[in-house]
Amino acid sequence: MSTVTPVTLNNGVEMPAVGLGVYQTPPQETSSAVAAALSAGYRHIDTAAVYGNERQVGEAVLKSGVDRAEVFLETKIWISDFGYDQTLHGFEKGAGKLGVDRIDLLLLHQPLPSDFDRTLEAYRALETLLADGKVRAIGVSNFMVEHLTALLERASVVPAVNQIEVHPYFAQRAVQEFGAEHGIHTQAWSPIGGITFYRDSAHDSTLRDPVIGEIGQAHGRTPAQVMLRWHLQQGRSTIPKSTRPERIAENFDVFDFELTDRQLAAIDGLDTDRRGGPEPGDITLANFGMPIPEA
Ligand code: NDP
Repeated sequence: MSTVTPVTLNNGVEMPAVGLGVYQTPPQETSSAVAAALSAGYRHIDTAAVYGNERQVGEAVLKSGVDRAEVFLETKIWISDFGYDQTLHGFEKGAGKLGVDRIDLLLLHQPLPSDFDRTLEAYRALETLLADGKVRAIGVSNFMVEHLTALLERASVVPAVNQIEVHPYFAQRAVQEFGAEHGIHTQAWSPIGGITFYRDSAHDSTLRDPVIGEIGQAHGRTPAQVMLRWHLQQGRSTIPKSTRPERIAENFDVFDFELTDRQLAAIDGLDTDRRGGPEPGDITLANFGMPIPEA
């Protein structure tokens, strides 16, 4: 992927390889971030019910004047809306807030292994929404190999996407390889190492990593651009988050340079095998089951 080539998902739907992430973007800053992204050339926004800013994403797209059909909208069903009927209703809430009839990519936000039957019912609802044309593609997020395996045993539709934490310090190669074997595209969250829930001194910022910095200098590029390029050249889509227009533009200016195999391997060598985000199994209804408001 050396140009702005989209990713073709397993059902033929095309998805822009770089989107804007809006996790932890406050609702009052979301519209301006999305507007900045659309004017920088982004045509893909990643939000989620639990981020509390779907409404502002939809409003910004509408206000931008960019044709809705050109913008790939991705959102996620939170665990408190898992279950067949609940997830169908979760779609209505998300689409209502986004102000759209159809969502381009709808994901289950977490595997919820403590109540996996509910997860399977939620996924069955996504399959119904896909069959009814309410969503163009369906997928999952934070699914590890064991969750994907259990899902594939029961699902009729192979998820198009698994959105997982991937950055140079946490590469999750086994999950990526499993996805590749089964036609499940890996999308990287925290692609530049941004959100670290449990960061300590041994797990410092990828943005200050000397290996990444040196590669950036060789290309006249920033560390963020080097990391985004690493994702794209390894076939992942990516959804960097920023609220600053200059960084939003910087993160999209990644289609006209190429890392060498040696540089890609050097970045691969930085993996610490330690996640920055929570263990997927630690997310339960008891501790994270906050309700999602109606549209
Ligand atoms: P990112 O790797 O995108 O990093 C974001 C952080 O880096 C912010 O603090 C941002 O600050 C800063 N930043 C952005 N661009 C630059 C730059 N060019 N140079 C220096 N700093 C920069 O992390 P996120 O965790 O936000 O992940 C991205 C997206 O992934 C989320 O917004 C969300 O859409 C998704 N996600 C999904 C999860 C899931 O469970 N499915 C979990 C976490 C994220 P500033 O805004 O001030 O520029």
